[in-house]
Amino acid sequence: MRIAGSVPSRRGGGVPAPDPEPRLESMPLAEETLDALVAVLDEIRLGRSRSRAELVARTGLSRGVVAQRVGELIERGLVVEGAPGPSTGGRPPRQVAFRAEAGHLLVADLGATSIDVAITTLDGRILAHHDEPADIASGPERCLQRVDELFDQLVATTYAVPGALWGIGVGVPGPVEFRTGRPISPPIMPGWDGYPVRERFAARYRAPVWVDNDVNILALGEWRAGVAAGHDNVVVIKIGTGIGAGIISDGRLHRGAQGSAGDVGHIQVTDDPAVICRCGNIGCLEALAGGAALGRAGEAAAREGRSRYLRAVLDGSGTVRAADVAQAASQGDPVAVGLLQSAGRLVGLMLATVVNFFNPSLVVIGGGVAQSGDQLLAAIRETVYRRSLPLATRDLLIQRSSLGGLAGVIGASAMVVDQLFARESIGRWVEAGSPSGMPEVALPRAG
Ligand SMILES: [Zn+2]
Repeated sequence: MRIAGSVPSRRGGGVPAPDPEPRLESMPLAEETLDALVAVLDEIRLGRSRSRAELVARTGLSRGVVAQRVGELIERGLVVEGAPGPSTGGRPPRQVAFRAEAGHLLVADLGATSIDVAITTLDGRILAHHDEPADIASGPERCLQRVDELFDQLVATTYAVPGALWGIGVGVPGPVEFRTGRPISPPIMPGWDGYPVRERFAARYRAPVWVDNDVNILALGEWRAGVAAGHDNVVVIKIGTGIGAGIISDGRLHRGAQGSAGDVGHIQVTDDPAVICRCGNIGCLEALAGGAALGRAGEAAAREGRSRYLRAVLDGSGTVRAADVAQAASQGDPVAVGLLQSAGRLVGLMLATVVNFFNPSLVVIGGGVAQSGDQLLAAIRETVYRRSLPLATRDLLIQRSSLGGLAGVIGASAMVVDQLFARESIGRWVEAGSPSGMPEVALPRAG
């Protein structure tokens, strides 16, 4: 089925078509038709416009064009017409809404030591969720096979899965070349360098797949549904096993030229040659203040008999993790409090530089280490406000992540939806009515 008015205009009058029987679904939409379709759909799906009149007012498109595009979106099952809205005199306008249950998404947030999976509607509502411990260092085959199993279980056990599978989103704890969906030299992911994560899922599920680093999807989650909603310039710091930053700049996720923007964990904060980072460099922030470093420092304190609390943890479980240090600090253990304060000061020093450089209105602190205890957040705040320029911090907020462990899967879902409905992608599938069965939607265009 074709969209009305979408015959390519550049063919011109009188010029015979080169192919006597063109395949309709392969014909591109006219540029202005696609522009209007994306503008109207974005307004509706992001909840900015709820009627044709609002669409006309907010998009600047004519009544006729709005009516036509809305009609097409309804016909394609992407938009539904609801009850009449409030009248402003005359016939009350019929409300329009995004049909978020037109399809479903499968998303996975892989951390260094955990897997979170979820099945969501097209507006990011979680229908089912599961998390379990995992080891990213066991390599891509084992990790992704487990994700397959969990996806299958989610689909099988979720009541009333809506529509077909429209897309898959995956976050991994390392740098990703976003265009190709491949991890690039990830320090804590042995065996994953260049691994074709997208192609692997696309071949099994026949759906478009997008892959990004775990910090970017955390930032998208907090921005779409958490504490960062409504802010246009945000830095989201994730302090998990490692440390990274996601950047929302002028209302868009900033990935940078290759997708490695925000890799702040490997900024050098000391020239002490004893501080060796797993990336191979000396003195990285992550090697002193990341979760792995906190666990190591806590374990050393336990072995040296400096903390009775951590000694008990070590005797009980054979190891000390960052979460144990945070727990000890919340119980008032002075060694653990000192470790979190010193980590917070180092993160704060890095952040002060970032704040001066980027001038965000909000900094969000997320990740496992940030979830427990207030000492870390207090030390970060104190250092940033002391070390940043007054104008940069005048209205600056520094807050804890509000979505906790769900931020990653919510963000992965938002990533897939943003990509599916982006100008570059939607023209490749909207004629077919759905991107289901079309993994090529996620591939970079040739040329
Ligand atoms: Zn490093």
